[in-house]
Amino acid sequence: MKTIDIRTGAPYQVLVGRDILKSAGVKILEIKSYKKIAVITDDIVYKLHGKTLKESLNLSGLSYEFFVFPNGEASKCQDTLNRIYEFLTLSGISRSDLIVAFGGGVVGDMAGFAASTYLRGVDYIQIPTTLIAQTDSSVGGKTAIDTPLGKNLVGAFYQPKLVLCDVDLLSTLPDSVFNAAMAEVIKYALLTESDLFSVLENKSIQDCLEDVVNRCIQIKADVVAGDEFDKGNRMLLNLGHTLGHSVENHSQYTVSHGEGVAIGMTIMLKACVKQGLLAESIYQRFLNLLEKFSLPTEYENASLKELANIAFHDKKRENDSISIIICEGIGQCRGEKIKLNELYDFIK
Ligand code: NAD
Repeated sequence: MKTIDIRTGAPYQVLVGRDILKSAGVKILEIKSYKKIAVITDDIVYKLHGKTLKESLNLSGLSYEFFVFPNGEASKCQDTLNRIYEFLTLSGISRSDLIVAFGGGVVGDMAGFAASTYLRGVDYIQIPTTLIAQTDSSVGGKTAIDTPLGKNLVGAFYQPKLVLCDVDLLSTLPDSVFNAAMAEVIKYALLTESDLFSVLENKSIQDCLEDVVNRCIQIKADVVAGDEFDKGNRMLLNLGHTLGHSVENHSQYTVSHGEGVAIGMTIMLKACVKQGLLAESIYQRFLNLLEKFSLPTEYENASLKELANIAFHDKKRENDSISIIICEGIGQCRGEKIKLNELYDFIK
């Protein structure tokens, strides 16, 4: 098991390894002797892994209750949040108790946001069960819900007390969910000068999964430590995300987050090649990696102009400008502020 320190204002650790879920109860008690625990999860995770978590909490003598909501992005909304608040109230959760986010990015974002707001803040930990959640969303303290007008429009920065990353949980993921998450992993590979990109090209992912998860968390940890509140370098993690969100939004979330990011990155990298900023050969290697993980490169149901228009509502816009991430090579990405009306000109 590896321990990665997250050096935010309130620091915490991510424990990464195999077979960790069984020791969740022990790890929780190492933080504090919590009296009551509210576990928030979705129906699929509950069915597949709920029993193991319950056994671990029982062994440690912890008292707990589960709130289970229907899986999927459509649940990441005000209605589910209201039901979580109701559950927390009826379960008698106080400020000295603990919330556990047990699931993928949707559960993590929802439970984290509930924890940040309920009683003005209750401790929470993340037990991420998808590749996106393990490599990205569970670390860094960004929590949010979607509104009908856009993704993640209401949220808070709220760091967990601990992240327990059990790589074995990924074995039950459907290929489509696993592959979609590889878009975020490929993003990390583009952001870092390390050999992660060539590892992904040359190895079978199953042979290096634990190492890849570790590396991605370390990259995220380093970025977050330097910019906890997303005012500077953390924006690099948004490579491909602005247009990715536009695709997700336009498809009414039938295109997953990871697929959206794959399409968003493709549009941005292609634009960088066209403007002479990025070598065509790197772009080809990037496309080959997307193909290796059966990731989409196009979204046929909306034009680039429509996608740029949807980005107008992106929460990352600042008055009339927006930050885009330009890729000039592997490990050579930088943020640039452009006027909103220049986005279409850049990508067309
Ligand atoms: P998700 O939580 O919807 O999970 C995808 C599917 O996998 C769901 O159907 C879920 O039930 C299922 N699942 C979860 N764990 C499983 C397991 N171990 N075995 C089998 N099935 C399992 O989505 P996701 O892809 O994990 O995350 C996407 C969400 O994360 C989006 O809402 C995105 O906005 C958010 N996100 C947040 C951040 C952040 O920094 N907060 C970063 C990236 C993404």
